[in-house]
Amino acid sequence: MVENVNYFFKSLRDFNGVGAKFFSSLERLLKVNPNVLDLLFHIPYDFIDRRFYSFLSSVQVGKFATLKLKVVQHISPGKYRGRKSPYKIICANETGNISLVFFQIYDYTKQFLSVGREIVVSGKISLFDGELSINHPDYILPIEKIEEIPLMEPVYPLTYAVSNKMMVSLLNKVLENLPSIDEWQVDAAISFSDAFRILHTDFSNMKLREMAKERLVYDEILANQLLLSLLRKNFKKHKGAIVKSFGQFRSAVLKSLGFDLTNAQKRVISEILMDLQSPYKMLRLLQGDVGSGKTIVAILSLLEVVEVGGQGAFMVPTEILAEQHFNSFISILEKASLKDKVKVLLLTGKDKGKVKAHKLQQIKNGEVDVVIGTHALFQNSVEFKNMLLAVIDEQHKFGVHQRFELSNKGNGIDANLLAMTATPIPRTLALTSFGDMDLSVIDEMPPNRKMIETNLWSISKLNVIVNLIKSKLETNQIQKLYWVCPLVEESEKLDLSAVLERFELLKNEFGDSVGLVHGKMKPDEKELVMKEFANINGKIKILVATSVIEVGVNVPEATLMIIEHAERFGLSSLHQLRGRIGRGGDKSTCLLLHSDKLTMQARARLSIMKQTTDGFKIAEEDLKLRGAGELLGSRQSGEMEFKIADLSSNIDIFLAVQQDVKNIMEQDPLLLSNRGKNLRILLKLFDFKGQMNNLLAG
Ligand code: ADP
Ligand code: MG
Repeated sequence: MVENVNYFFKSLRDFNGVGAKFFSSLERLLKVNPNVLDLLFHIPYDFIDRRFYSFLSSVQVGKFATLKLKVVQHISPGKYRGRKSPYKIICANETGNISLVFFQIYDYTKQFLSVGREIVVSGKISLFDGELSINHPDYILPIEKIEEIPLMEPVYPLTYAVSNKMMVSLLNKVLENLPSIDEWQVDAAISFSDAFRILHTDFSNMKLREMAKERLVYDEILANQLLLSLLRKNFKKHKGAIVKSFGQFRSAVLKSLGFDLTNAQKRVISEILMDLQSPYKMLRLLQGDVGSGKTIVAILSLLEVVEVGGQGAFMVPTEILAEQHFNSFISILEKASLKDKVKVLLLTGKDKGKVKAHKLQQIKNGEVDVVIGTHALFQNSVEFKNMLLAVIDEQHKFGVHQRFELSNKGNGIDANLLAMTATPIPRTLALTSFGDMDLSVIDEMPPNRKMIETNLWSISKLNVIVNLIKSKLETNQIQKLYWVCPLVEESEKLDLSAVLERFELLKNEFGDSVGLVHGKMKPDEKELVMKEFANINGKIKILVATSVIEVGVNVPEATLMIIEHAERFGLSSLHQLRGRIGRGGDKSTCLLLHSDKLTMQARARLSIMKQTTDGFKIAEEDLKLRGAGELLGSRQSGEMEFKIADLSSNIDIFLAVQQDVKNIMEQDPLLLSNRGKNLRILLKLFDFKGQMNNLLAG
C-alpha cells in the first residue's frame, strides 16, 4: 500500500516524454518539482466536444466539429482585397463545401491533402465571407484512422511551451498506472483515484463529474480539519500555569497611558485575565479592526505574566513592526516608571554572532522578561526559562503550526497563546482556521478617529497627483504620505521594477524627501528609512513602499496614502494598507490608482473601499468576490490555500466534515484503527509537511 501511495509523489520528471524544457514549463504551471498529485489537481476547466457531423448545415460557427470530407481543390495564396490571402483547400461532402484554411502550410500537408483524397478533419468552425471554414484544423487524418480523434478533449490551463495535446498525453500516461489506495472516507461512492480519472477523462456525465469533485473537496477539507484538530488536541494536552497578579503593572500603565481604554478593550482584557487565571491554557484569538488598539491589550497581557515572574514572547511578522512594538513598549514602561522592573528585548533575524548569543543567554536564564521578535523566535536555539504567554500579532501571516510551535517553548507547561488579527473573519470561516479557539473582538474604535476619504483615480492622472502632492507639501497641508506599489510575484522571484521606477520618478520631483522600503532590502537599510519617515522632523516625507508596510506600522503624521494598481490587491490588503493613515488628528485621504482598463467587476470591488471603512463589511464582500482561501490571507503561509475546495460554496461539505472529524477525534484520536491508518495517508497526500508524524508520535 505504501508503494501505491508513493506513486502520487512520483516526480513528473520521471515520465517518458517529459524533457527538461517541458518539465520547466510544468514547474511554471504547477509548482517547483511537481509530482503526480500536483498534475492530477490541474483539472481541465473546459472540454472540447468534437462531435461528428454529417450535415454541414448543422455545424455551428465557433464550435468544434469532426467531419468526413473529400478534397476538391487547392487555392494558392493570391492577393485578396489588397492583402496576401491564406492557402485554401476546398473540401466537400454530399451536403456542401467547407474550406480548410492555412496561414502557413507544410509541403507534406499539401501533398497529403491531394485532390480526391477522403479524410477526416476536426477543428473549430469559422465563417468568412459567407463560407464555412476551419482554420488550421486540430486533426487531419486519413479516413481509416478516424478512431484516433478524441470525441471529447479536456482543455487545460496552459503556459508558454506547453500545448494542450502535451498535457492530455502526459495525463493519460499518469492515469494509466494510477493505483487504487485504501479508502479513508466512510461511504464514498467514488474512490480517490477514480475521482481524478473522471475529472480528467469523463466529460459526458455532469452529475458524475460533480460527485467526483465533491469527493475530492471532502478529502481536502477533511485533511485540513483533521490536522487542525490534531494540533489543537496536542496543544490542549497540558494544563496551563495559573497566572494571577496583583495588577500592579497594569494599573501603573493605565494611569500613565494618556488615554482611556475603550470599553471593548477593557472587556477583552478582562476575558484574557480570566483565561490567564484559569488552570487551563489560554487559546484565544483577538480580532480587532486596523487601529482598534490591539497592541496595548497585548502589552498589558504580557505585563501580567511578568508581574508573576514569568516571561512573555511577542511575535510579529516583520522587523519594522517588531521594532515599532519594541519602541512603544519601552516608552509605555518609561511613562509608567516600570523600566527597571521589566526588561524587554528585541530579537530579529538581524541578530548574529556574539550579540545573538548574549541575547539568547539572557532569555534562557530569565534576565529578560519580554522578547519581541520576528520568525527568529521560532528557532530551536531560543529557549526560555519560564515562558507563560506567547502573543502573535497579525497571526494570519503565520502558518498554523508556527503559532502552536511558539507556545511550545514554555518548558514543560505550554504557554498561553494569544493570537491577534485585524482580518475580520466571518464566524463559519473562523472555525476552519481556528477551530475551538476562543474569540475576543474589539468592536469599537478609539475616539477621535478621523474618517478616511477614499477616491478612485486612473493612473493616467499621475501628473495631476504629483502636482497636488507638491502643493500640499509646500503649504504644509500634509506632513507625510505613503506611496504603495504592488509587487509582481513570478514563481519565487519578486519583481521590484515597478516600485523602483516609481521611486526614481518621485525622486526626480521631490529629491531627498522620498524614501524607499521593500522586502528585498537589508533590515538596517529599511530601519533607517522607516525611522526618517516616522520622525516628524525627519527628511523623508514620501515613503515609497511595497506592501511590507501593510501590517501594523504606526506613523500618525501620515495622512495621505496612494496605492498604485489597487485592482491587484485583495480588498482586505487594501483595508490593512489604508489603516496606516487616519491615525493622527488630521483628516486623511486614500487614493486608489487603477489602470485605465478596469473591468466592471474590478471597479465594483474598488468602490466598496470608497463606501466603507468597516473591515468586517469589506471582508464579507471580499469573500463573495474572491473566495475563502484568499480572505484568510494566508498566501504567505500557504496554510489555507485549498487546491480544490472553496469554502464559500462548499459549506455543506464543510459541516459534514466537521461532524466526521469530531467522531474521529472521539473514537480514534491517534489514528490507529484501520480507518485511522488510511486517514494518515490522506494527511500525507494533502501535503502537510510531515507535521502529522510529530503530532501522532506523542
Ligand atoms: P491595531 O489594532 O491596528 O494594532 P494599534 O494597537 O496600533 O492598532 O493602535 C493604533 C493607535 O491607537 C495607536 O497609536 C494607539 O496608541 C492608539 N490607541 C489604542 N487604544 C486607544 C484608546 N483607547 N484611545 C486612544 N488611542 C488609542
Ligand atoms: Mg497592530
